[in-house]
Amino acid sequence: MADCLFCKIVAGDIPAAIVHRDDALVAFRDINPQAPFHVLIVPRAHVATLNDLTPDRDALVGSMARLAARLARDAGHAERGYRTVFNCNADAGQTVWHIHMHLLAGRRLAWPPG
Ligand code: 5GP
Ligand code: ZN
Repeated sequence: MADCLFCKIVAGDIPAAIVHRDDALVAFRDINPQAPFHVLIVPRAHVATLNDLTPDRDALVGSMARLAARLARDAGHAERGYRTVFNCNADAGQTVWHIHMHLLAGRRLAWPPG
């Protein structure tokens, strides 16, 4: 979608520190990391928010979760732990309207979140 930051990163029009790409997903380092390991996992397909997901995307979202587990494991964080987060809309702090799973690890993460 035109004027979508993450569509532009997926297309390679804006540079990012890519850690994974496949036919359906791209994962890259967050530009403003909130933990020593902070990766964003995004689908190539443009979906604005979790509210816009449809049943045909169920496998896609499942693959995002499995990729998060794989990237966390490969970076050595599986044992100590990590967190995955989808922010949806204003109260959750969503700032980019193309769904993305945050993967955070490398420090003790507080709960409840701020
Ligand atoms: P949200 O707040 O929508 O859940 O998360 C958006 C995330 O995208 C933020 O953590 C922010 O730091 C990250 N971000 C915003 N612009 C860029 C960018 O140009 N490149 C990268 N790699 N991350 C970005
Ligand atoms: Zn997009």
